[in-house]
Amino acid sequence: MGPVKSPKPLAICVFCSSSGTIDRGYIDLAAQAGTELARRGHSLVSGGAKVSCMGAVARAARAGGARTVGVIPEGLVSVEIADEDNDELIVTPDMRTRKGEMDRRSDAFLILPGGIGTLEELFEVWTARVLAMHAKPVVILDPTGVYEPLRELMRGLTEQGFARARIWDAIGWTDSVPKAFDLLERSQPRIEFSPEDYAEAEL
Ligand code: AMP
Repeated sequence: MGPVKSPKPLAICVFCSSSGTIDRGYIDLAAQAGTELARRGHSLVSGGAKVSCMGAVARAARAGGARTVGVIPEGLVSVEIADEDNDELIVTPDMRTRKGEMDRRSDAFLILPGGIGTLEELFEVWTARVLAMHAKPVVILDPTGVYEPLRELMRGLTEQGFARARIWDAIGWTDSVPKAFDLLERSQPRIEFSPEDYAEAEL
């Protein structure tokens, strides 16, 4: 398939696993995401690590001709192995600065299967979108259903009124690589608050 450059190149932040004990299929998925990102003419913002899915997405993106920016906290440079092949490698003093820098440099966020770090990153950008602090697309790519229990949890919290229904307007959820990029490229309406959201519950 030939390149299908998106009319508007985006800096896409990919959050994904740093684990060395996952099925090989997830490393391949990360590589597919990197390849598709490059094919559409986007650039990558990532956690700057060489390991696991984080390394795979950046290597594939570069192999496809994309520019990659890695942002890694000082304390993880030797643990997650900073990827010196990044076009730009930024070493931050701490995790908060890393995530702030990644957010600031990104136009959209793609979340692949991952562990506690990926979930923390997902919830940070998803929550900020729900609170209208940004209008950047947030998309989960989950071809194998690892996040289905999370989706069920969030549905239950919505049904019981703990989470607002608009959380679903603030996220794209798909099992397909091309669909994930279609969603990332779609401009998002800013989330509007409704007065009922914060009304006192009837006693
Ligand atoms: P994981 O999904 O646990 O494999 O982590 C993926 C990435 O998330 C790694 O680069 C971690 O450094 C990063 N991360 C961000 N916040 C956290 C956190 N609170 N705990 C662990 N990892 C984190």
